[in-house]
Amino acid sequence: MKIETRKAVQFHYTLRDESAGVELESSKSGDPVAYLHGFNNIIEGLEEAMEGKAAGDVFSVSIAPEKAYGLREEGNQQRIPIKHLLVRKNAPLVPGMIVHIQTEQGARQATLIKAGKFNVDVDTNHPLAGKQLGFDIEIVDVRDASDEEVAHGHVHGVGGHHH
Ligand code: ZN
Repeated sequence: MKIETRKAVQFHYTLRDESAGVELESSKSGDPVAYLHGFNNIIEGLEEAMEGKAAGDVFSVSIAPEKAYGLREEGNQQRIPIKHLLVRKNAPLVPGMIVHIQTEQGARQATLIKAGKFNVDVDTNHPLAGKQLGFDIEIVDVRDASDEEVAHGHVHGVGGHHH
């Protein structure tokens, strides 16, 4: 069965930052991840590469920022009160670390630039913005999505949503 719109797909991945030549994360030590094809569950470039693949397929793809997490925008640095950081109490604040900040649009990721006593400077670009990403993909399973999954716009069960 080939991957197309309304298929539920399970896959393993290893993600590399090709700009820096480093591995960022991998699903291989746990359950595969699952997504509903054609519903923007995953980044655009990866969804395009998945189209037409089948269970057992192994491939690598290199994705430009425009089809991943977008380009870095200048001027996305902000100084915010330290109390707006969602971090463990007393966790050390190290420049370069990924933090979560509370915004009017909800919690979002940011990169810590500098920590002061009461305020921190953060860069609110997505941590992967501007990066050329490399994915090594192994397709584990492809099946028809249920009507309920299509209605919800995501996959249920292993690697997907649990309600
Ligand atoms: Zn659901």
